Amino acid sequence: MPAPPDPPSSDLRFVIIGAGMSGVLAAIQLREAGLENFTIYEKGDRIGGTWRENSYPGIACDVPSHFYSYSFALNPEWSSRFAPGAEIQAYFDAVAHRYQVFSSIRFGQEVARCAFENGRWRITLADGSTDEADFVIAATGVLHHPAVPDFEGLESFAGDVFHSARWNHDVEIEKKRVGVVGNGSSAIQIVSAIVSQVAQLAIFQRTPQWVTPIENQPYSEEEKDEFRKNPDAMWAIRTETARAFTEGFANVLVDAESPLLQAIHQNCENNLENSVRDPELREKLRPNYRAACKRLIMSEDFYESVQRANASLVSEGIERIEESGVRTRDGKLHELDVLVLATGFQVNQFVRPMQVVGRDGLALDDVWKDGANAYMAISVADFPNFFMLNGPSGPVGNFSLIEVAELQFAYIFQLIEQVRSGACHEIAASREAALRFDAERKQAAKTTIWNSGCKSWYLDKDGLPTAWPWTFDRFRQEMAKPRLEDFEKR
Ligand code: NAP
Repeated sequence: MPAPPDPPSSDLRFVIIGAGMSGVLAAIQLREAGLENFTIYEKGDRIGGTWRENSYPGIACDVPSHFYSYSFALNPEWSSRFAPGAEIQAYFDAVAHRYQVFSSIRFGQEVARCAFENGRWRITLADGSTDEADFVIAATGVLHHPAVPDFEGLESFAGDVFHSARWNHDVEIEKKRVGVVGNGSSAIQIVSAIVSQVAQLAIFQRTPQWVTPIENQPYSEEEKDEFRKNPDAMWAIRTETARAFTEGFANVLVDAESPLLQAIHQNCENNLENSVRDPELREKLRPNYRAACKRLIMSEDFYESVQRANASLVSEGIERIEESGVRTRDGKLHELDVLVLATGFQVNQFVRPMQVVGRDGLALDDVWKDGANAYMAISVADFPNFFMLNGPSGPVGNFSLIEVAELQFAYIFQLIEQVRSGACHEIAASREAALRFDAERKQAAKTTIWNSGCKSWYLDKDGLPTAWPWTFDRFRQEMAKPRLEDFEKR
């Protein structure tokens, strides 16, 4: 007869790494489930993750605010359809206060190492102190480590230079000559926000981007009052937005041939034709790949901004940086006072540079030597009771990562339940399931729009998209109930 299962354990200890959107979510959900024994380690001095780090002018979320909110903390006060970053940061602060998360956060504490030893996780902090836990939930974010190009001569620039995610608010940009390198989602928001303040704005574009138009109308006091009195009105917007995102976008990205993607492409083309008057500029701005191959840019005023008299779109490549500005390959020197590098992030880091060591001394760095991956974006074989929120191969891009994290936490919680109920002590994806998932993921990635002929941060070193390559409906289905047969339990 098999041994009877252990009695349910109520004293499991959790360490959550990172107090961004998903770390705060994990803390709230653990507490709601009666699992009070946890600590969040946060290397910064505030919560908020990406919203703390990115404070550049014009920062906003291009996912509608009533959708980019926790499902359990809808917010009637959103000022507009696409709320600005500072408001989103204030929202996370308010929710964390409401759910009393702050007392569980250790700020200024960077986790340097997590090692699975004798059935528990031993956590070593950068200051040398240690902790132990039954579970680690890594909520370390996706786009966290800035990518700074090694332009020749960058250090010789006499003006101020900083990355978009490290905006230097001490630097005055008003009436200055400013250069922005890049034209991704960050750059587009910066350009539109600062063009009317600066003397001259040079936008250094390496690859044109498709831009889909949005309208960011403010919510009136009457509308907000209605949301306060009648939360169902917010639910209705949220549900409708979620439906439109899923059916009209997320589900179709994974089928490059879908008619809806053609319609999205046409919409972007119309936007370009109708918004940019000068044919030469229009052609400079026209991508030679399909819309949504790179992350789709959403903007109500980017095209208007680049057409302003003080703006110039520089599409010649950057040769080097000199003391007084940027020298492009056509030999021209673009003289600048401030240079903003809106050049994106090192996207393959995930929990790294933290060292994670699983069973028998297996290093995550070795498992991930060819690129980060995780079964269902959550679990790595031989790393028991270690789960990631917004980890590798999850849905990224034009999604509400809050919805993604909530679905993932519900899944992780069911794995935790296996241990809490006494069914096992350790749970991780089996090696077979992890290999099978990765092979299926790579196969499915081939027919996604991200693989249709452009370069983007979605691609791995072999040029294959790393994001969840199936429909968002499938993601919801998978997250609803773990396939426990794919997990190794001890
Ligand atoms: P990004 O999309 O990776 O864009 C980086 C830009 O810098 C690209 O235009 C890239 O050109 C250019 N670049 C990089 N290295 C360069 C070099 N050596 N020389 C010249 N140009 C160079 O980064 P991001 O704009 O910060 O956005 C990253 C992601 O953050 C977005 O895709 C999105 O997921 C998220 N985000 C979201 C929002 C939101 O509203 N929800 C806002 C901002 C960011 P190439 O295209 O040629 O590579």
